[in-house]
Amino acid sequence: MAITKTDFMRGMQCRKMLWLDKHKPGLRVIPPEVQARLDAGNDFGDQAMGMFGPYEEMTVYLPGKRIPDKKAMLANTQDALARGVEVICEAAFSNYNNYCAVDILRKTEKGHDFYEVKNAPEVHEQFIRDAGFQYYIITRSGLKIDRIFIVIHGQEEENPFVPVDVTTQAKGYYHWINDHIWDLNRMQKEADEVQAEPGEQCSNPYECWYYGYCHGEKNRDDTEQLSCVPLDGTASETGKGTA
Ligand code: SF4
Repeated sequence: MAITKTDFMRGMQCRKMLWLDKHKPGLRVIPPEVQARLDAGNDFGDQAMGMFGPYEEMTVYLPGKRIPDKKAMLANTQDALARGVEVICEAAFSNYNNYCAVDILRKTEKGHDFYEVKNAPEVHEQFIRDAGFQYYIITRSGLKIDRIFIVIHGQEEENPFVPVDVTTQAKGYYHWINDHIWDLNRMQKEADEVQAEPGEQCSNPYECWYYGYCHGEKNRDDTEQLSCVPLDGTASETGKGTA
């Protein structure tokens, strides 16, 4: 059990959130409007894959499931890199089993650039942290990264993909990631439930899907409108939800 990008971001929002993901995922409840936003983000990410023309996508699912087959994706990515593929989508990397899948990896004269796609009108700090996590994993796996972009949703209907260069800020998160990733790795394996007082982190930057559990709302009026989703499924605030 190692750390993915989604794990890291959720664990940094609240340690208990990550622990619950690993030990009590059945308690997750996603409001329908959040699920709709996640689905729209996935669609936008899929459309963005073609923004530089032809590409190869590395996504592989475990047989009969919508859960990424990380081992196969890692192998496919190494194969695509060895063949010199210019644009690789959902390119997978790992370091000591910590894992990320990059929305778009693009070959350049200096190495590779990568693009994290977000269905949002502007760049938020948590997007840059996402990109910083990916930079950390990719760099430690041995690939040289030149520039890093967040692709946001622009105004033009014909071409809504607007890359914003966040190279300096994202690379600046390297040591912050390293300072926390190993602790989160240890913490998520603890047998006893991690405790955290509910507070601002329950809705910032994202509303927590364990809100009802932690706030003792066993009989919310809107319970029938909520839906449980599987851990490691498509539910994620980013891209295809594959971390
Ligand atoms: S509801 Fe709040 S305290 Fe509970 S897991 Fe979520 S963020 Fe943490």
